[in-house]
Amino acid sequence: MDKRRKLTKAERQVVYDKMEGHCAYCGCEISLQTMQVDHVTPLRKGGSETMDNMWPACRSCNHYKHTLTVEQFRQEISKAPNRLMRYDTAYRLAVRFGLLELNRKTVTFYFERKEDGADGL
Ligand SMILES: [Zn+2]
Repeated sequence: MDKRRKLTKAERQVVYDKMEGHCAYCGCEISLQTMQVDHVTPLRKGGSETMDNMWPACRSCNHYKHTLTVEQFRQEISKAPNRLMRYDTAYRLAVRFGLLELNRKTVTFYFERKEDGADGL
C-alpha cells in the first residue's frame, strides 16, 4: 500500500474543482463525495503528494489506472478491443453481426479534450 496523506475537505474541493465535477480521464460526472483522488504520476513511480499531482477520477478509472502513468493507462485502454475480440465470444459475435462497431481511434482523456476547449465540456 502506498502511504497516502489524508486530504482536508478544502483540499478535496480544490482537486474536485480542477475538472469542474468530471473525472479527468473518462469525463463522467462525479460528485465530491464519490470522487477518488488520483495521483497523476503514481506514488510508486516517483509521483509526489502535492496538489499538482492530484486529479479527480471516478472509481472505475482510478481502479484501472491504478499504478499506471497516464500514457500507460492510455495504452491499456487501447488494448481493450483486441482483448475482447480475442477472448470474448459474445463481443466477437456482436461485432460480426454489426451490433457493435470496432474502431481504433486514439484514446483521448477528458482533461485533454478540456484543454482543447472542445464544445460541450
Ligand atoms: Zn472515469
